[in-house]
Amino acid sequence: MKVITFSGGVHPDSRKLTEKKPIIKTALPKQVVIPLSQHIGAPCSASVTAGQEVKKGQPIGQTSGFVSAPVHASISGKVVAIGPFPHPSGKDVTSVVIEGDGKDEWVSGLKEHEDYLNLDIELLKAIVKDAGIVGLGGATFPTHVKLSPPKEKKIDTVILNGAECEPYLTSDHRLMVEHPREIVEGLKIIMRMVGVDKGYIGIEQNKPDAIKALRDAASKDRNVEVVQLYVKYPQGAEKMLIKVITGREVPSGGLPMDVGAVVQNVGTAKAIFDAVRYGIPLIERVVTVTGSGIKEPNNFLVRIGTSFQQLIDESGGFKGGIGKIIAGGPMMGLAQGTTDVPVIKGTSGILVLAKDEVKEAETYRPCCRCGRCIDVCPVGLNPATIGILVERGRFQEAKDNDCFDCIECGSCSYICPAKRPLVQFIKLAKFELTRKS
Ligand code: SF4
Ligand code: SF4
Repeated sequence: MKVITFSGGVHPDSRKLTEKKPIIKTALPKQVVIPLSQHIGAPCSASVTAGQEVKKGQPIGQTSGFVSAPVHASISGKVVAIGPFPHPSGKDVTSVVIEGDGKDEWVSGLKEHEDYLNLDIELLKAIVKDAGIVGLGGATFPTHVKLSPPKEKKIDTVILNGAECEPYLTSDHRLMVEHPREIVEGLKIIMRMVGVDKGYIGIEQNKPDAIKALRDAASKDRNVEVVQLYVKYPQGAEKMLIKVITGREVPSGGLPMDVGAVVQNVGTAKAIFDAVRYGIPLIERVVTVTGSGIKEPNNFLVRIGTSFQQLIDESGGFKGGIGKIIAGGPMMGLAQGTTDVPVIKGTSGILVLAKDEVKEAETYRPCCRCGRCIDVCPVGLNPATIGILVERGRFQEAKDNDCFDCIECGSCSYICPAKRPLVQFIKLAKFELTRKS
């Protein structure tokens, strides 16, 4: 069978401890902390007040711009506080705190659509927007914006991303095995929204059960093709998926729509189906809780706003000394200083590494010009040169070396024998250049 890939990339140990673990629902949280900013774009403003009773699915944060997404109560109960609370980004973010009443009652008026594939396109966009759907692969870009390309950008291809190339994470994998039909229907809704006849679902070949489940689910849909991908990191990056599936190269500084493509995560496709078919807003997601520092790694269906600590407790607690807690995977995730942070729409996993697995922070050394970082960079950058320029404060030259094309996959840092923090250098360059512009 044909298996396709891209040039560059690395092969970290996949460590998918939870790939055979079915998704289980967590206990209903007694309290949720729901940040008003869980997406790229303008934060929401609170549409409820302290003391107000709310129902599950009720909007509690309204958008203040086109590039934004509303947020909803994930449990029924009473709003007990609105203010700054810790967020997985490391900053304090204005959040709505709801104390549960244990009834878990839905808000009234959720609208179902049995004829979901025949709805007006503007209505579909409004449903997706009002449901607060954002990219669930971690990018958290508001989905209704991505599905509203400018008229001059002709889209002819939709790709669902089921690669899940980050080590440890299995939330997408389990979703594909357990909910393949909803994912395929979500893809067909997306195809209708952007006027496309052909849809692809890209899955790495180390997930044969997911490939089979989706092929079976799409067996009657001749316009949907499940594509088997080579196992390599970062296979799930948008530009890599587009390259291997369509052969098209997103230009430097460009977007997928520049080459006629729209890429969505498989979890986002399921969220779209749930919203359009059943009127359900985005109030929960699948989260993998895993790593050598967790007693019973699992995949959980989690209400947005549930604390990391609750999930760790439901996984039997910590095992041994804690070395590092990461929101997401080891390549692109964010280290956490506390477990007192909530699951947000972009939380695909919580990774706890045991103390003996985490090396003391190594002092990095000067570049020895081995060229390995250049070999693995999937977008063809020279991370060694950019790193040296950043160390010397020569940010404009870093820009001239296309640092903004970096997708922050971390492959260069992973492979560097001198342990140079190349992706951090590049992030710093982007920050400084953006700040000055
Ligand atoms: S330079 Fe950016 S895109 Fe290239 S390997 Fe490093 S992190 Fe990935
Ligand atoms: S991998 Fe590290 S040591 Fe080798 S060229 Fe790149 S930055 Fe230099």
